[in-house]
Amino acid sequence: MNIDSIQNGVVIDHITAGLGMRLYELLDLASLDASIALIKNVNSKKMGKKDIIKIDANIELNLDVIGFVDPDATVNIIKDGVLVDKRCIDMPQTLTNVIKCKNPRCITSCEQELDHIFKLTDKEGKVYRCIYCETKA
Ligand code: ZN
Repeated sequence: MNIDSIQNGVVIDHITAGLGMRLYELLDLASLDASIALIKNVNSKKMGKKDIIKIDANIELNLDVIGFVDPDATVNIIKDGVLVDKRCIDMPQTLTNVIKCKNPRCITSCEQELDHIFKLTDKEGKVYRCIYCETKA
């Protein structure tokens, strides 16, 4: 794959340097049967350093995951070599089954079928809390 010219796919740009790998893991990109490039520490005029993820496939990404990991990232949709859509990301109000509660006494630890749901409780501090036990994410 020529990482500079995706014909049809998605480019997640302006990822805060160091967060690209976390995003790659939480988006579960390893399970995709597509060419994916994670480029770390790219020089950026605006940000100093940034990470970029390029996915050579037209897939629907979970924007909530991106907003949780890095609300400053941008998502570019490319079709036939042309940028057709640019999406700005916002922090999601709720996160469902993206992260798991770390509290061993949380009800989600014993009730396996429960959804893991976190709510944004402090937008400034980027704090998410488990809706069952209020443990911080
Ligand atoms: Zn919990």
